[in-house]
Amino acid sequence: MRFPDCCAPGTNSGNYILDSSKLKPYNSDMNTKDIGPQSLLEAVRYYSNLDVCHNYMAKLKWPNGILTCPKCGAANVGFIQSRRMYQCKSQECRKQFSVKVGTIFEDSPLGLDKWFVAVWCITNAKNGISSCELARALKVTQKSAWFMLHRVRLAMKTKTFNRIGGNGAPVEIDETYVGGLAEHMHKKQRAIRITSNGVAGKTAIMGLLERHNGKKHSTVRAQIVPNRQAASLHPVIHKHVEPGATIYTDSLAGYRGLNPTFDHDFVDHAESYVRNGVIHTNGLENFWAILKRALRGTYIRPTPKHLFRYLDEQILRFNERKGTDAQRFHFVMPNTLGRRIMYKELIGTVFEH
Ligand SMILES: [Zn+2]
Repeated sequence: MRFPDCCAPGTNSGNYILDSSKLKPYNSDMNTKDIGPQSLLEAVRYYSNLDVCHNYMAKLKWPNGILTCPKCGAANVGFIQSRRMYQCKSQECRKQFSVKVGTIFEDSPLGLDKWFVAVWCITNAKNGISSCELARALKVTQKSAWFMLHRVRLAMKTKTFNRIGGNGAPVEIDETYVGGLAEHMHKKQRAIRITSNGVAGKTAIMGLLERHNGKKHSTVRAQIVPNRQAASLHPVIHKHVEPGATIYTDSLAGYRGLNPTFDHDFVDHAESYVRNGVIHTNGLENFWAILKRALRGTYIRPTPKHLFRYLDEQILRFNERKGTDAQRFHFVMPNTLGRRIMYKELIGTVFEH
């Protein structure tokens, strides 16, 4: 179907209080810098209009305005404006669906007004936001907020990574340990972590940071690794870094043997933190500091099972740190499409906040 004029994406009813020339509805063809809400307060007001949210999602999902039934694929689809629902007109199907279908919002009883504000808050909270804080802000239960957080984190996961270091920009590589103290853990958890890791109660994370090459700011990627041995670290480096790239690390034995595939140099932290002005891992140290502040301050004790989701969240905020709050929001929103996670996939080891 084609959208009737009244509900075409980007169309606004015109009688909404925030319909002003200053606050135009979002349109993906436009530069988002100066349009739409720019602050949390503006976002809460702007997206309190469910028509605005509906139109935004419809534009993302069906950019050419042509939509088909998600069940039978028929192109003959009607729109029930009073309920903001679509209905397949095929006699055998008659499927009703909303813009939430096939997105991280699917099956959620919560309105898009709350979801949009949740995405805004989570993508822009520099130190992260706990499910308790989100629950209070949105007036939802903590359980709902916890689920919302994980769904939004899924949208914050970077889809594909190209190899780094191929443009002459040096790559810093470092690792760190995160995780709660063993004595605060449940006995069963403690046993799992100590035996699986070697370092009591801690999980090893490896990070790779491509320094800015004069055009853009540095960007990071990170992942959980079983330990700091060469057998764990080297495959990650070969997967993510262009052969021949310049790599800077500390003097950890696990990084030996990277030459001659890479141009590897290291700094011995027992002697100094910077050698020859450029050989250091300070960019990653900065990222670790931000990550640990969020983990300690906001998330209390994420279980290893969910740690990668917190990592995804922090990586996106770090890599998009030069953008405005609005730009980060519009950056994440397209990734709400085609991604779903069910509650049962998340529960099982739910202790964190
Ligand atoms: Zn159908």
